[in-house]
Amino acid sequence: MRLQSAIAAVATFIILVAAITITVFSQNQPPEKPSFETPLEKKTSEKTSEKGDSPENIPLPEGSYKHPDRFSPRPSKSISKDEVERLKLALHKASYFKPLENGSVQCLLCPRHCFIKDGDRGACRVRANYGGTLYALTYGKPVALNNDPIEKKPLNHFLPGTKSLSVATIGCNFGCVFCQNWHISQEYPENGNHLDLIAYVSELLPDKKDLTQLLPSEIVQLAKLLNADSISYTYTEPSVFFEYMLDTAKEARKAGLKNVWVTCGYLEEKPLHELCKYLDAANVDLKGFSEEFYSRYCGSTLAPVLKTLMILKEEKVWFEITNLVIPQANDSDEMIRKMCVWIRENLGTDVPLHFSRFIPHYKLQDRPETPFATLQRAAKIAKEEGIKYVYIGNVWTKGVEDTLCPNCGKTIVKREFMNVLENNIKDGKCKFCNAPIPGVWSK
Ligand code: SF4
Repeated sequence: MRLQSAIAAVATFIILVAAITITVFSQNQPPEKPSFETPLEKKTSEKTSEKGDSPENIPLPEGSYKHPDRFSPRPSKSISKDEVERLKLALHKASYFKPLENGSVQCLLCPRHCFIKDGDRGACRVRANYGGTLYALTYGKPVALNNDPIEKKPLNHFLPGTKSLSVATIGCNFGCVFCQNWHISQEYPENGNHLDLIAYVSELLPDKKDLTQLLPSEIVQLAKLLNADSISYTYTEPSVFFEYMLDTAKEARKAGLKNVWVTCGYLEEKPLHELCKYLDAANVDLKGFSEEFYSRYCGSTLAPVLKTLMILKEEKVWFEITNLVIPQANDSDEMIRKMCVWIRENLGTDVPLHFSRFIPHYKLQDRPETPFATLQRAAKIAKEEGIKYVYIGNVWTKGVEDTLCPNCGKTIVKREFMNVLENNIKDGKCKFCNAPIPGVWSK
């Protein structure tokens, strides 16, 4: 009976989690002027006033989307401490900030370096200053939790065929106009569904009393219950729930689970080095390969992302790169080739590169999804530049997810729709010709 109840509870959990995945929806927020000013924006406004070339006047390529507020993510706005408490959000002291005069602080977690006045929030909307102390509002407040195949991250060279309990809170330090998870990444934490989600998952945690937060140790407990081999911090930008991610990663390590960071790569060097101590793998979105693209479509900058990739390499964290190929935005031969050359010269040819199909989302609705031929063209360029493991994702075409041995050309991992059908890697080597295949292949 006990076994039957346990099976029933697990089945209920899986159904519930599937049903509640990401259920918050964007509210119509009145356009407000951000109450923060980041050095990035400051620099931009200084630059534009000097040169008289307002960002809105920079000529766009023909047919391209014009992002109305492309130099920042969705505007932040104040939230009182009382409101934070009433909504059962967190007042968890943040790491990486510097108190300034007049009760202001500067957040040093990501390269935005927001200056935040007392009572205001940073650009990611989830870090607020009360009385000269910065607080992480989403610590312990997940809004999405799924037991995904690791191939969905995507990671093709990291424990293939395993499950990864994937967690997200609200918030992001980017403002990508094409975001596919915009309804949680660009949302305000006060509009999130964390209480519903915690209530659902608590059914699997019989001793759980506090239904206002999901502790790091409880995420680990859930991962164990669901037979996950890793925990992924993903869907939104996990860097903005840094403290929650780090504490969970520490607990996961103790329990023998791996940690996976799925990220835009916009994190300062110091916190990144700290995080790397507990990371086993990462997938970094390299969204395009020009500062102009990052500015126009993501409200951000490219250079820190490249720095992150270099640090992951230096720290010997296994990582793969995803490039979402968007028509008329980052799909030129020139940009793709430039990116591949940079990868080859700075990271090496063993880093797997995933070209992913764009599907219209959020504010970028003015163009069709990426044609398959464009993705094939991108993959061809990457191979010409020597990248050994090139994948096409977010399409339902057989063969594009397979890993081929660069030495003998045989299929060493066969995948279909993110499922592993065949794995011919033995002890990190091709079963057919014994060539070593880079990646993490055993637990
Ligand atoms: S983490 Fe958030 S508050 Fe901190 S600098 Fe980045 S965007 Fe600003």
